[in-house]
Parts: sequence; C-alpha cells; structure tokens
Amino acid sequence: MAGTRVLHITPANAAGGPYPAGARGAAVNAAGVHTRVAAVIGSPVRHSLSPAMHNAAFRELGLDWIYVAFEVPPDSVAAAFAGARALGIGGLSVTIPHKAAALAAVDEATATATAVGAVNTVVPRADGSLLGDNTDGAGFLASLAEEGFDPSGRVCAVIGAGGAARAVVHALAGAGAAEVVVMNRTRGRAEAAAALAGAAGRVGAAADLERVDLVVNATPVGLAGSGSDASPVDPRLLGPGQLVVDLVPNPAVTGLMRGAREGGARVAGGLGMLVHQGAAAFELWTGRQAPIGVMRAAAARALG
Ligand code: NAP
Repeated sequence: MAGTRVLHITPANAAGGPYPAGARGAAVNAAGVHTRVAAVIGSPVRHSLSPAMHNAAFRELGLDWIYVAFEVPPDSVAAAFAGARALGIGGLSVTIPHKAAALAAVDEATATATAVGAVNTVVPRADGSLLGDNTDGAGFLASLAEEGFDPSGRVCAVIGAGGAARAVVHALAGAGAAEVVVMNRTRGRAEAAAALAGAAGRVGAAADLERVDLVVNATPVGLAGSGSDASPVDPRLLGPGQLVVDLVPNPAVTGLMRGAREGGARVAGGLGMLVHQGAAAFELWTGRQAPIGVMRAAAARALG
C-alpha cells in the first residue's frame, strides 16, 4: 500500500539490541522459516539482560535463533506454557515472579528444579513436552570457580531464603560445603532453605558472619533504586580472608560490596552467576558450547 512504512524485524529491533550495524540480523536466514525462537517470561521483564546475552551468543556461533522477552502476568503462566508447546519454542528462561509457577506448568522437572522448588530454564523435548530445570545453582558455582573459590569443606553464609537463595544453598551443599548458614528476616523460610543443605544446613544470625569463608547476598537489598548504599548486613562484620558475593546484578558495585571491600574482604557481583546460568541454558537448548566471554560482554554492555 502506498505510503505504508515497512518495518524489517531483525534481532536488533526485536530484542537485545543495540548491535554493531554490520551484525544486524546476520544469524537469521533470509526467509526466517527455520528460525528457532527462545524467550524469557517474567513480570516485569523489560529490564532483562537475557535477550542481549543470548542474541549475542546466537550471532557469535552463527545460529539461526532469536531470543525475545515476553511480559507474562502471573495469572497467565499456564497459558504461556501452553503457547510455548503449541509454537514449538526452542527454549524458555523464567524469571521473577514465575519460577515457582513454572515448576507446576512443565511436563517434567529435574531433581534440582524439584528440590529448589523453582524452574528458571525450560527445555523442549522431541515429543513436544517441556522439561523444567534450574541452572541458577550451577551458574553460581561456575561464578565461584572463576573467583578461585572451592566451597568444599568451607563455611558459607547465605542471606535470604527466596528462589535464588534456595538454589545457592542447594548448590553449595552439593559442592561439599562443610556448613551452610542461612539468615533471613522470616525464620520459617530460613529453616526451609537450610534444610536443602541437609546435615550441613542451619539457620544463623549476624554474629555468624565473622567466622564464615563465603557470604552470599541473595536478597534484593542493594538493588538499584532500593537505596544507594543499602546492605542486608553490616559490612563492618566482614573482612580479610572472606569472599563476599552479592547476587544483585545492578549496580555492579553494591553497598555491601563497597563496605566489605573497605574492610579487606574480596568481593564479586551478580553478573558472573547471571552469565553462567544463561550459558548453561544456552547449552541445553542448542547443544553447543556457550561463548561465555561474548555473553558476559553483551550482558555488561546492556547493564551500561
Ligand atoms: P525472592 O524469591 O523474592 O526472595 C527474596 C528474599 O530476600 C526473601 O528471602 C526475602 O525475605 C528477602 N528480602 C526481601 N526484601 C528484603 C529486605 N528489605 N530486607 C531483608 N530481606 C529481604 O527473590 P529471588 O528470586 O530469590 O532474588 C533475590 C535476589 O537475587 C534479587 O536481587 C535478584 O535480582 C537476585 N538474583 C540474581 C541472580 C543472578 O544470576 N545474579 C539470579 C537470581 C536472583 P522474606 O523471606 O522474609 O520475604
């Protein structure tokens, strides 16, 4: 029709941009009839770094895939999964607040997802059914390895008892931590999370912090916009010989990290876990080794 503006959809304007001009749409074949679609569902989801990260990885490996973000309201999770099945989606990531609902919506779940009570990655199988997995714990352990920290035989503290904390507690226990001490403002949830570590798990308090090797913040305290220097614990309790990991991905340096570093502790942010949980999902969907460096750079760029 004369005068109609034609918008050419490319990975860049669909999700995850901006891309270098020369790379736009490079991984998507001309007709797009073979293009596989992966997506993240959440609410709110517009802040997600996953489209930037996964589209960069698809492009790097020349895969004819695209990754988009779907805003799904809480009462539509089951419908979203039905849609994913019907459309033959290539892979799904699940983020806040749908991880628990996703466990109920998949056809089958891995032992890890079942234990943690949350699905963050959905893998379609040949028969069209959807398998729910949780790669948060594996992603966290991979980020610890990058920091040169082996949890085996070490005393670890986890602050928080939500989905991320439960994945971390479960992973630390699986990696042989001697003790996993859970601190949370709601004691009942702390007890449930600590139980995931079996005999190594217990509920603790701030006084425990001085004698642990690893401290993990798995609460949203410190997240951009929640108070610039807010910290879930007094960072003056932390010091030399300790590694402090704040799972909050934004800002890159939180109040907890700043305070702990001033006291002499080693610190790391949430980007490592984010990248590695995504890389594990990428490998489950595509069967290809994830280009970690490319994914990290894309996520960091999207964070600004
Ligand atoms: P969640 O399931 O909602 O759990 C939040 C936990 O934080 C709960 O235990 C809650 O305590 C506690 N909490 C919330 N606000 C608090 C406050 N003001 N003071 C003290 N405790 C508070 O959330 P989630 O999915 O586990 O996510 C937690 C954090 O981890 C978020 O910042 C998220 O961005 C981050 N995360 C990062 C990654 C990554 O890859 N880097 C992955 C997943 C999550 P109650 O039990 O008392 O409510």
